[in-house]
Amino acid sequence: METKKFCLTERQMPTQWYNIVADMPNKPLPPLHPATKQPVTKEQMSAIFAEELIDQEMSTERFIDIPEEVQEIYKIWRPSPLVRATGLEKALGTPAKIYFKNESVSPAGSHKPNTAVPQAYYNYKQGIRHLTTETGAGQWGAAIAFAAKHFGLDVQVFMVKVSYEQKPYRRLMMNTWGAECIASPSTITASGRAALERDPDCSGSLGLAISEAVEMALQHPEDTRYCLGSVLNHVILHQTVIGQEAVAQMEMAGAEPDVVIGCFGGGSNFAGLGFPFLRRNLVEGRNIRIVAVEPSSCPKLTRGTFQYDFGDVAGFTPLLPMYTLGHDFQPSDIHAGGLRYHGAGSIVSQLLKDGLVEARSLPQTETLAAGILFAKTEGIIPAPESTHAIAAAIREALQAKEEGTPRTILFNLSGNGVIDLYAYEQYLAGALRDYVPGDDEIAKTVSQLSKII
Ligand SMILES: *Cc1c(COP(=O)(O)O)cnc(C)c1O
Repeated sequence: METKKFCLTERQMPTQWYNIVADMPNKPLPPLHPATKQPVTKEQMSAIFAEELIDQEMSTERFIDIPEEVQEIYKIWRPSPLVRATGLEKALGTPAKIYFKNESVSPAGSHKPNTAVPQAYYNYKQGIRHLTTETGAGQWGAAIAFAAKHFGLDVQVFMVKVSYEQKPYRRLMMNTWGAECIASPSTITASGRAALERDPDCSGSLGLAISEAVEMALQHPEDTRYCLGSVLNHVILHQTVIGQEAVAQMEMAGAEPDVVIGCFGGGSNFAGLGFPFLRRNLVEGRNIRIVAVEPSSCPKLTRGTFQYDFGDVAGFTPLLPMYTLGHDFQPSDIHAGGLRYHGAGSIVSQLLKDGLVEARSLPQTETLAAGILFAKTEGIIPAPESTHAIAAAIREALQAKEEGTPRTILFNLSGNGVIDLYAYEQYLAGALRDYVPGDDEIAKTVSQLSKII
């Protein structure tokens, strides 16, 4: 009988995070202050983020120790299993071997606690007592709520009002873990009150929620900081536990991936799985393809431009060098909420520009169909975000079948979909539509960027 699951023991867990900046041929460009257009300083960032996280954000060290307190909490669900998708292989009749790294086993149901735990820890160590953040569909809010309570921190999560009302279950997860979840726009911040004054029925946006969370942090510099669940370098760094485990597990399986695939929102689960494999390309001269998969409705990697842009819609963040559709781009309301982001992290953007990683975009009807096939063959109902990675893996497997050649495929199952069943309901009812923005639509928001820098 073939082995299905490859599991590490707790003692084999990585004790360091991997920082790919050390091995990049071209380092990412620095974030700039929007007013001065000069690189932002640590002092400027320290009003918003914990100091250790800023050091990691700017670090060029190859390996950074994972604090024991963080490793201890990782053990609740780590090491996560690497699974051979034998059922999916059989259904496809492919000669390809398909493996997936199962990050859906975390308490919050996604990869996000891998960074939520160290972010909470470093804030706690600095004497911070309150965290603020924003969340769209609620995955990040749930992850930080779970993590913060381990260190006795209070959390305020500003959740976009439409999601707050339409998607109560993650809000209830946050409440269960003891976090406060506030519908944004709220009346407790100036930015929220201003939005409500303009439009009392305002249903909110991610940009507005960020503004509220950052404002709260800036108003209480003595004990409050803000935190972010994707895009930034330190977030991507923390996620490399995924790929380091997977490198060891693929060795256990006696297999070497030809292609490593991750779905792409801001880049953290893609980079988390992909970078330890990309290191083998950079350091050992291997030739593993590292593929990011984004929705066709929000195609910053495949159709965006490489430019300095704001990380948020409101224009509060430093300017980041990124592949972007422009921060004013309004992605259509697809179900993979975690992938509806206008830009990409600056490390991934540089790697894509240098041709060291690949990108492709897929329509959501194809990805949800792939998610349903995966659920039927492997049992797990995947997060709508993760179905993008599954659909790309299936395309690779079918191509191998057509060519009659072997291929070893590894993808990241970034989360499960049990709280996103509405997406499946829509698909099964035949109500799901694909939307591909026109060139003119993208050109409109991209052209705005020339005004910034
Ligand atoms: C947030 C999220 C994503 C997208 O974020 P990345 O930073 O690109 O990984 C993907 N999958 C799941 C399950 C998520 O919760």
